Amino acid sequence: MGVKICCIGAGYVGGPTMAVIALKCPDIIVHVVDISKPRIDAWNSDELPIYEPGLDEVVKACRGKNLFFSTDVERLVAESDIVFVSVNTPTKTSGLGAGKAADLTYWESAARMIADVSTSDKIVVEKSTVPVKTAEAIEKILTHNKKGINFEILSNPEFLAEGTAMEDLNQPDRVLIGGRETPGGQKAVAALKAVYAHWVPEENILTTNLWSAELSKLAANAFLAQRISSINAMSALCEATGADVSEVAYAVGKDSRIGPKFLNASVGFGGSCFQKDILNLVYICECNGLPEVANYWKQVVQINDYQKDRFVRRVVSSMFNTVSGKKVAVLGFAFKKDTGDTRETPAIDVCHGLLQDKALLNIYDPQVTEDQIKRDLSLNKFDWDHPHHLQPTNPTTLLNQVSVVKDAYEATKGAHGVCVITEWDEFKKLDYQKIYDGMQKPAFIFDGRNVLNGSELRKIGFIVYSIGKPLDP
Ligand code: NAD
Repeated sequence: MGVKICCIGAGYVGGPTMAVIALKCPDIIVHVVDISKPRIDAWNSDELPIYEPGLDEVVKACRGKNLFFSTDVERLVAESDIVFVSVNTPTKTSGLGAGKAADLTYWESAARMIADVSTSDKIVVEKSTVPVKTAEAIEKILTHNKKGINFEILSNPEFLAEGTAMEDLNQPDRVLIGGRETPGGQKAVAALKAVYAHWVPEENILTTNLWSAELSKLAANAFLAQRISSINAMSALCEATGADVSEVAYAVGKDSRIGPKFLNASVGFGGSCFQKDILNLVYICECNGLPEVANYWKQVVQINDYQKDRFVRRVVSSMFNTVSGKKVAVLGFAFKKDTGDTRETPAIDVCHGLLQDKALLNIYDPQVTEDQIKRDLSLNKFDWDHPHHLQPTNPTTLLNQVSVVKDAYEATKGAHGVCVITEWDEFKKLDYQKIYDGMQKPAFIFDGRNVLNGSELRKIGFIVYSIGKPLDP
């Protein structure tokens, strides 16, 4: 048998990454552990805790053979050679750096636990996204407790995107491994490289120093989000001038130096990573005495807030400056298609904005439960102190104005307007004539993802608003 792997954190990253390692490396035993019993129970059941295309098949093929899910965290960590740490690293909501800095309490407690329970040498792998220099802090925690045990820290950030996680893990653009430039550090890098070498071509496994690997993850997310904010900023100018953002994106993306990906204008980006990682980058820049650089990246988040706010304003202003008492269908609540994840989804801000204007919302998402939607909407969101950020409404009022329904037809029945917030494929295939017939007139559609055929909808009779496109082309 090969090395024994244990991953702390059975979430959107820990679960799929370890399932793929187990699939590709039948000689390696992989344990995924978590303090959350419901999560582990779900991983061991037919209803996995996360929805990700292709994940079910892989988990079912490996579970019980060389892939195991357990809450027996300490014992399994103690027995392993390589410990991945894939716990959550959300934004701090109070204290020093609140609203920007990463909250590393989960990481710190995992590191302290590793130090306490270990009785043999270990490679500890940062899988979570962490601020640059975190490995230094982790090393301190581990070495101060080490009882003669050798710990090597590696940074191996994860670049998967939810919705395409299995493809991304099967054929990664690159695997990045950062380690100390000492003999021990390089030996650890080689050991982790050997795991990935089971299926990733050697030229796609990059090795760097620890800080480059840590920073590359934050940089990659900042660049991706920056492209979205750039095209979204252009979409506002398109609307003001009669240019069409899809045509502009196509023309811009044809430049081989720029490329066509990640240039879709939308209601804004969401997800648990982009905003959190950029804010963290901003904080790190500020802590390193680089306020100009911090301000540069801050704009990416501010444009995103502006875009969500702009969308809400457009909905309200188009519908004769009020949505009070009007039914509005919200199609899609997940932050993107092919996931049930709603963390930082733009749907939350859009719904809050419409609810503040007293709209009655009928929400439908194929993968998000009613409980989840209501929980998200009743949570008091942290005030990021952004000029365009929308404030949540009172939870009780909010729940009286929200219905979560079972399909798009039910959501749109009797509605004055429809907002498409998630680009689920099924929304492209709906019978829009039927939807139009069931709606109040004039019937509005606000396509927050530019996935619908605006001219077809106009022929039916809808008033259509797409992001960054002329209102009446
Ligand atoms: P998640 O919240 O889905 O999962 C984290 C899990 O860690 C939770 O189940 C939690 O119970 C568990 N946990 C926390 N502390 C623990 C402890 N001390 N012991 C055992 N378990 C513990 O988070 P996620 O989306 O999987 O993200 C994990 C990390 O990966 C974050 O740093 C994130 O930024 C990064 N990341 C996420 C994505 C993504 O698309 N979600 C992509 C790349 C990187």
